[in-house]
Amino acid sequence: MAELLSFRSLSAEDERHTILAGLSLHVDKGETVALVGESGCGKTMSIGALFGILPDDVEVTGGSILFDGEDVLLYNGKGRRDKLYRRAGFVPQNTTDSLYPLMPVSKVMTDAYVHNHPEIGRKAAVERAAALLSSLGIEDAKRVLSLYPFQLSGGMKQRVNIASALMDDIELLVADEPTSALDIHIRRQIETLYASLADRDGLSMLIVSHDLGFVRSVADRIYVMYAGRIIEEGLCDEIFSDPVHPYTKSLIALGSMNARDRNLDLPELGYSNSVPDRNSPSCAFLSRCSCRRDSCSCSVEYFRLSETHFVRCVL
Ligand code: SF4
Repeated sequence: MAELLSFRSLSAEDERHTILAGLSLHVDKGETVALVGESGCGKTMSIGALFGILPDDVEVTGGSILFDGEDVLLYNGKGRRDKLYRRAGFVPQNTTDSLYPLMPVSKVMTDAYVHNHPEIGRKAAVERAAALLSSLGIEDAKRVLSLYPFQLSGGMKQRVNIASALMDDIELLVADEPTSALDIHIRRQIETLYASLADRDGLSMLIVSHDLGFVRSVADRIYVMYAGRIIEEGLCDEIFSDPVHPYTKSLIALGSMNARDRNLDLPELGYSNSVPDRNSPSCAFLSRCSCRRDSCSCSVEYFRLSETHFVRCVL
């Protein structure tokens, strides 16, 4: 399959910390890829770098992000909008904050679209918005378009954000933690919704999540991220059936536990006082790993286990 999106050795830092330490991943056309890892590993910053929405004190210091072969980091403002925003949509983590509270949903969904396509009138844009909401399982789309964001449930807000991202005929949908802060009932609906989006012709998805149950139901391939870089990647089945990195194993074990069990310590995910040096060639997981050995403090390469399965670990 042809590559649509490719992060190549992307590095980013703020005044005191390295945030991304040579992040590399790719999404092929029509593929659904998940990026998983704990909070603070750099997942959301990776998306921020793609869409040019990094915090003020964070800057990209190296690498590139190719979208359909062009490095979007070379473009700002209108240039980035033309190269990327019209072909890629973003569903942010906090769907409440992303919906302007003083506008009805119809305006929230159509303002940018009408601005970018002045030849298409507001009426046609609202009709398109209603059709998209219906296609995402909202039965009374016209009524929902007349509501204000505070009148929507968590699941409705997710759907409105996804529909807003789909207003343009996008090729890539990026979603940040789509199932966070949802109750189990709504979470199942959103899971089904993303699974149906994954089957849409011509749509690729990059889903950032710490919810491995959700990821397992939608992703073709998975990247596991730790301390600013990828530590394991593989097909969904390879990661869940045959994980190799101790961190991946612990994440999967943690994801399969019930809420009460999660209070138990897993050795590999215990707390460590030492902050990993993200620029060190040695294993960043060393201080938390119960399988460590002497060779782990030397340079740890990215080993190929199969055509599609790679791991950064000496085991
Ligand atoms: S390289 Fe060593 S310390 Fe790092 S995860 Fe593998 S076994 Fe553990």
